[in-house]
Amino acid sequence: MAAGVELGGLGRLVVKVGSSLLIRADGGLDRSWLQTLIADVATLKERGSDVIVVSSGAVALGASLLGINRRRARLPQLQAAAAAGQVSLVNAYETGLGEFGIGTAQVLLTRSDTENRRRFLNARATLSELLGRRIVPIVNENDTVSTDEIRYGDNDRLAARVAQLVMADALILLSDVDGLYESDPRDDPDAVHVADVRRIDERIRGMAGETRTDTGSGGMATKVEAARIATHAGCETFVTLGSRPHPLEALAAGARHTVFRGNGTPAARRKQWLAGSLDVAGTLEIDAGAAAALRDGGSLLPVGVVSLDGEFRRGDVLRITTGGGRELGRGLAEYGHAEAEKLLGARSDDIERRLGYRGRPVLVHRDELVLFDND
Ligand code: GLU
Repeated sequence: MAAGVELGGLGRLVVKVGSSLLIRADGGLDRSWLQTLIADVATLKERGSDVIVVSSGAVALGASLLGINRRRARLPQLQAAAAAGQVSLVNAYETGLGEFGIGTAQVLLTRSDTENRRRFLNARATLSELLGRRIVPIVNENDTVSTDEIRYGDNDRLAARVAQLVMADALILLSDVDGLYESDPRDDPDAVHVADVRRIDERIRGMAGETRTDTGSGGMATKVEAARIATHAGCETFVTLGSRPHPLEALAAGARHTVFRGNGTPAARRKQWLAGSLDVAGTLEIDAGAAAALRDGGSLLPVGVVSLDGEFRRGDVLRITTGGGRELGRGLAEYGHAEAEKLLGARSDDIERRLGYRGRPVLVHRDELVLFDND
């Protein structure tokens, strides 16, 4: 048995559950298996982890509810199936988590929600708020409005984007195989299991091939692609067998898996990206008090901003300078320039009056800020 994975010690986890695990051969939901997964999630939450579940199964469930044959169905039929199935899917999580006194929320995303920076910030703010309230968000693709050009198409990649979005420490892809093999284990009984991947290169991609299961759309190739996205964001990725009861407990106890090692920590990777971004859209000049607060790890509040420059929008990269024009760091704008202008020098309790609506408390959030080492 391989060494156990210290899941309880990981702060923020994204767990992806494939359709083939949740949906029985007769098209119904496998509630008894789901309850074992939920019990594992409850244990992790008890140990202080934040957990987000990215769950497939809406299309498969809805198709059986509406009597749609998925193999012959057209896109609108599949979308109708997703809309119907999503209700039962989230209901099952809500009931199950409720037994442990844990709240549930449904979050449906499309690809542009994670690729467009403004929407990215919105989705992230919502997910952080939910996690802060000790709720387990159940995420799926918003299949009803996602046509081929704009979809992820598989929840492996969606889960990786969510992991990147929330700066998760680990992404766990529960699968119908226990990890990556050098050759396809279904054709080759002697296929060698790969336990640890430090770099995703052509050789690793070659091993993943192009696999497809009947119930879900992800195969090992999309898992490796998901691992590439997540590890690049500093998030360790695990692929393990999900079909056994208590799959997360099993992983923690050392069940066979493949781990794809993260590249640095999530925060460090994010800051690297910010520091290196070339498309800076504007500048905020801040006072000495704000500069000190940033160095202490704080966010940039409107009260400390003296002037601004540039026609930036929410989500754009801004240069942060001090009085002498020295660049202190960079961060993502929480407001567009017109609103930021109204907020110059505003105390927190004055934000609502200046904007005419409640607004957000910071101009640049500390998670979206990098300071240069220049003093
Ligand atoms: N969003 C799809 C569903 O809920 C699943 C996509 C996938 O299988 O990865 O059925």
